[in-house]
Amino acid sequence: MSTNKAGAEAAFTPDPAKISQAALDYIKAGPKKLYIGGAWKAAQSGETFEVFDPATGEVMAHAALGKAADIDDAVKAARKAFQDPSWARISPHQRSRYLLTIADIIERNVEELATIQAIDIGMVLPQSRQLTASMCDVFRYFAGFATKILGSTYPSDGSALTYSLREPLGVVGAIIPWNSPTFASAWKIAPALACGNTVVLKPAEQAPLLPLRLAELLEAADLPPGVLNIVSGLGADAGDALAKHPGVNKINFTGSTGVGKGILAASTGNLKKVTLELGGKSPNIIFPDADLEKTIPAAVMGFTSGAGQVCVAGTRVFVHEDVYDEVAAAIAKAAQAIKVGNPLDPTADIGPIISKKQLDRVSDYIKSGQEEGAALRTGGEAHEGPGYYVEPTVFENVTDEMRIVREEIFGPVAALIRFKDENDAVFRANDTEFGLAAAVWTKDISRAHTVARALEAGTVWVNTIFELDVIAPYGGYKMSGIGRELGAESIEANTQVKTVVVRF
Ligand code: ADP
Repeated sequence: MSTNKAGAEAAFTPDPAKISQAALDYIKAGPKKLYIGGAWKAAQSGETFEVFDPATGEVMAHAALGKAADIDDAVKAARKAFQDPSWARISPHQRSRYLLTIADIIERNVEELATIQAIDIGMVLPQSRQLTASMCDVFRYFAGFATKILGSTYPSDGSALTYSLREPLGVVGAIIPWNSPTFASAWKIAPALACGNTVVLKPAEQAPLLPLRLAELLEAADLPPGVLNIVSGLGADAGDALAKHPGVNKINFTGSTGVGKGILAASTGNLKKVTLELGGKSPNIIFPDADLEKTIPAAVMGFTSGAGQVCVAGTRVFVHEDVYDEVAAAIAKAAQAIKVGNPLDPTADIGPIISKKQLDRVSDYIKSGQEEGAALRTGGEAHEGPGYYVEPTVFENVTDEMRIVREEIFGPVAALIRFKDENDAVFRANDTEFGLAAAVWTKDISRAHTVARALEAGTVWVNTIFELDVIAPYGGYKMSGIGRELGAESIEANTQVKTVVVRF
């Protein structure tokens, strides 16, 4: 039995002394309510839905099942707040202070928030801690922007003044996925508020706990009621209602490409602005001169981190034929050494898959790879009960047409692909409908820059992977998205420009 036998550690019992009691208490406390207009409310239907622990498959909490009526309530509260002088007329310095206060609150509660996220999505605690702490940087970065959102003046004759104002859009609807509730919330809430918008956020039904607890903690920031609203519910119901709502000025969505297309279609009713962060099938290209000591662990982390449930996962690993045998053996060995286990187990490297549905999807892909003739180099085992675990899985002898090479799996599954030269690697890396991210490993500086330019991806990493920083824009080429988040692009995406012509 390999050390990473999927699910072998499912029976793990966390050491209570090392786990945030506040997080456990929050999860156990009664049904979570909706946060609308600064108040906590049950869903209008009175219904709730079950929240599952992916490490055990058991129901661990209930959350209010928000539907169209609740979304409508939240959008109205957000609109009222948007127009209220307590938000609309405050100075940019005050908006900045709100964001700085939010960052301080998150910082004081990192352990609790990180633990809630770790349990809710099955992410190992150290990684969850790191992502939770990174939310503080996001709020602080955009706090700085609140006072630097500039218009322009334009040349005119002597009796006129023409200038532009960069103004908020209004109500921003944020729809986020289950794989990253911390940073998906921060990436959407922080720039929207910095620009003076108000927000209605719908968490993923698989993982609603972090955004709901965050809103509770952020009450201490004293934002005017209705500036931030959280409505948990199902995508096809609450999510769809938000995407269609005529009172919403923008939807900022992160999730699958299929749902993203639906959001775009739903936005046409009132032509709301749309930013979409969608799926990926990112190439990770290893040239023969790469520093393999760094490259191998990074490549394995690239498709196993978060149990592969990461939109930028490097799931197509292109390896130059000169080093293919060596690299394939090293990747297989490193993948076998990954410990799959309970997210609270400090010895676990990766946790479970989010749900039974997702586990079945990943298993189907593994089966399809085998049926289509790919060779399983390592892994391949999916295990259910208790919890949903998949071993890091590496395929070889794949062709460019196989489903495991073309489609986003969202599990710890990679395809190793042998290539001949730079052109071959670039051509095949770009032979995908996605274009979210790509990584290149080489010591040759010319090749690094040439390949970085040639790759069709919103982010290209050279001799590194997964480095995302709020200071630089993030988003997808091709079917990986529309628009950009983070960086100054986020400010543009959360504002609109008004030209004022004054004749005197
Ligand atoms: P993932 O596969 O990462 O879960 P999804 O695209 O299924 O991505 O879900 C991302 C978010 O979109 C979740 O909050 C989900 O509830 C929401 N969602 C799903 N279907 C719809 C829909 N038809 N309209 C609006 N939002 C939706």
